[in-house]
Amino acid sequence: MKIKNGAEYMQSLRDVNPKIYYKGKRIEDVTRHPATAPHVRAAAMTYALASREKYRDLATATSHLTGNVISRFTHVHQNIEDLIKKIKLLRVLGQKTATCFQRCVGFDGINAVYSVAYEVDQKLGTDYLERFKKWLIRIQDENLMVVGAMTDPKGDRSKGPADQPDLDQYVHVVERRDDGVVIRGAKLHMTGAVNSHEILVMPTTALDERSKDFAIVCAIPIDHPGITMIFGRQASDDRRDRLEWIDSGKPRFGAVGGEAVIAFDDVFVPHERIFLNGEAEFTGTIVYRFAAHHRANYGACKTGIMDVLTGAVAYLAQIQGTAKGSHIREKITEMIHLSETLYSSSIACSAEGEATPSGAYLVDTMLANVCKQNVTRFHFEVARLAIDLAGGFIATMPSEYDLHSEDVGHLVKKYFSGVADIPVEDRIKIGRLIEAMTGGTAMIESMHGAGSPQAQRIMIFREGDLEKKIKLAKALAGIPSKRDKKKKK
Ligand code: SF4
Ligand code: FE
Repeated sequence: MKIKNGAEYMQSLRDVNPKIYYKGKRIEDVTRHPATAPHVRAAAMTYALASREKYRDLATATSHLTGNVISRFTHVHQNIEDLIKKIKLLRVLGQKTATCFQRCVGFDGINAVYSVAYEVDQKLGTDYLERFKKWLIRIQDENLMVVGAMTDPKGDRSKGPADQPDLDQYVHVVERRDDGVVIRGAKLHMTGAVNSHEILVMPTTALDERSKDFAIVCAIPIDHPGITMIFGRQASDDRRDRLEWIDSGKPRFGAVGGEAVIAFDDVFVPHERIFLNGEAEFTGTIVYRFAAHHRANYGACKTGIMDVLTGAVAYLAQIQGTAKGSHIREKITEMIHLSETLYSSSIACSAEGEATPSGAYLVDTMLANVCKQNVTRFHFEVARLAIDLAGGFIATMPSEYDLHSEDVGHLVKKYFSGVADIPVEDRIKIGRLIEAMTGGTAMIESMHGAGSPQAQRIMIFREGDLEKKIKLAKALAGIPSKRDKKKKK
């Protein structure tokens, strides 16, 4: 692996020069700008863990393409053990950063595209998988971070891609040349985009034959001159941007992953970087597999985050002298129960995974959808319990400027104190951590990341095999099935 640790990852980002805007100004160095640096540090943790003996087994894998040791985030799952190791790795990373470390999006994109490219080639005699393998070997050997770019702006949602008044609402091919294609459009909510090396463009939805120009899968270097990124605002980001170390709650890693708009302004993509080009019938499978992998993750990365939140609340109870209260213990027990329930579904959909025809393993898609659906409830319930236990003070605390003020600092220290042997600063820091982890952007990510709740419900209903369940009920109720009735005739 060319990039061996977090520091080398940071340096690799300084070696490229993508066009990124934030609050109307260009960001020159994402590793040092206060808006992006925390998110870069969170992603850097994926590199750091691979360099530590304790986590090496989880954070690295052996490439089935080269036999080399690679980051797990660039690996194509070869068996159920790989799927489970990924889940364990994501929980550890959630515990270490308490935020989104971003690198799983590209990871899931790699796995979805790999398995589908194989199937396209088998059916149509194309050579997409060979091209993809060549690109992937470089990603693996150099240990690059890939942003999986799926979500299009979608414009008027009552119309499909081909019927939009502005076709750029979906990324599409605007020109076909002998040596490649030119694409235009944008991707929104792109987690980790500003600190990735490569963009893996995928379609956002299942497409029909009329939408062939939108059926494009390809890879583009992050600093391609035709690409512009706009980094998004987050709740309380001014605290982060002003380097308010206590008030930002989670200063090292930020409240949530860090998302950006990626705009493609007539970007030329050469043939060797194109992995699907017009074969609309396969787009649904790419979206479906990508979504399943990413939904499986949420019971792991979010569980790691919930572990930290539970620890924060438990410590706050100690600071406030309430830790022994039976209702406090009961609510903390519930937080743990919900977290472990979520984790169980991540493990379950991995343990029930199966090989696709390419040999790449895919999680159980029904259980993955159930897992993410539960995140949209359990994480919110865990956050509700945390706010309940923390008390109203997380919304009314004076700022760190007042804590350190010569005029009023003594009042903050006196009236925000807890038990005698724990410094008041601990109470304020933990309060701010809980505030950051239960508010605004962090919780929105849990609801809508990896697809909004309705997207999972559609899949759960579709895969629920109601006909089979009806047959089971009929059999036990003594109602003859259609076949039995026919036999009697
Ligand atoms: Fe990974 Fe979770 Fe972030 Fe998705 S939300 S990229 S699974 S850490
Ligand atoms: Fe996410």
